[in-house]
Amino acid sequence: MSKWEANVRKVIPYTPGEQPNQPDMIKLNTNENPYPPAPGVEKALKGMDTDTMRLYPDPTAGDLVHAIAQNYGLKDEQVFVGVGSDDVLAMSFLTFFNSEKPVLFPDITYSFYDVWADLFRIPYERPALDENFHIKKEDYFKENGGIVFPNPNAPTGVEMPLADVEDIIRHNPEVIVIVDEAYVDFGGQSALPLIEKYDNLLVVQTFSKSRSMAGMRIGFACGNEKLIKFLNDVKYSFNSYTMDRTALAAGVAAVEDQAYFEETCNKIIETREWTKKELTALGFSFQDSKSNFIFATHKTCPAAELFEALREQHIYVRYFPKDRIDNFLRITIGTKEEMQKFIDFLKDYLK
Ligand code: PMP
Repeated sequence: MSKWEANVRKVIPYTPGEQPNQPDMIKLNTNENPYPPAPGVEKALKGMDTDTMRLYPDPTAGDLVHAIAQNYGLKDEQVFVGVGSDDVLAMSFLTFFNSEKPVLFPDITYSFYDVWADLFRIPYERPALDENFHIKKEDYFKENGGIVFPNPNAPTGVEMPLADVEDIIRHNPEVIVIVDEAYVDFGGQSALPLIEKYDNLLVVQTFSKSRSMAGMRIGFACGNEKLIKFLNDVKYSFNSYTMDRTALAAGVAAVEDQAYFEETCNKIIETREWTKKELTALGFSFQDSKSNFIFATHKTCPAAELFEALREQHIYVRYFPKDRIDNFLRITIGTKEEMQKFIDFLKDYLK
């Protein structure tokens, strides 16, 4: 080993889902939206003047911040934006989880949390979900350095009732509680109204799922003005220009089309409910999902085998070879046609 290696920050990185690119594929592995972004997004991008790219973008991302604030009935000072919610969450870990005490998040959850904690050298504990993959709120009523969980949780899809989320926030006035609402628009109840009541609550959302813009990388956080100021201070100490001009223009256009947003979310919810019935009939079981995916296990066929069999047909789902969840598949909800093909294959394979 070279001597300099002793001074390298060594991390085990997060592994993103694969991004295969076959023309005939059915891609149900990274919780993307199967529908295109709102029509206004295309118009905004086509209307961009390339000459403006000489110039740095607005470091405050003011137009996008304003559009999001207006949409959710907030002040601009209550909104922070970043390069996908991964960027927003990473900045939030760096800003708010600065204690010697362990940060708490579930044992089965978004697998980026422990990566950021390790990267930033934040101690953490992972209270176990119950046997039905539900968060036990009492596990979060002890001394800690901060709390983060997705609601609905990933990869389980399980939603914690808002009253329980509020209980966790209420029990933890001395730390910041981050509720990661990446999937909330598919039928979940948002904690956003609680930011007026609790100055220790940060709600994080993304344009990657419900607004069909995973490729554009837009995420945001809402909280009281003081929290947002602290987040911006850290952001400006890291990279002033996180959001580029195209993302800012596209993001504003996406937020402005509420009707399209509701229509596409509803289509996904409808297809999810149909898929639940079909999967149940085929011998799968799963906890009820309020997200754009279903986390399912089959009564006889091992998940690893199904994963490979689907893959051979260019049907991609996500499989996590991890403790407690290695017999489950996370299946993103695609279009009705895609889900029909997926179910047809399973019917044939499992008979
Ligand atoms: N939170 C959760 C729970 C997620 O599953 C994801 C998607 N991988 C993210 C945050 C990050 O999404 P993005 O950076 O695309 O906003």
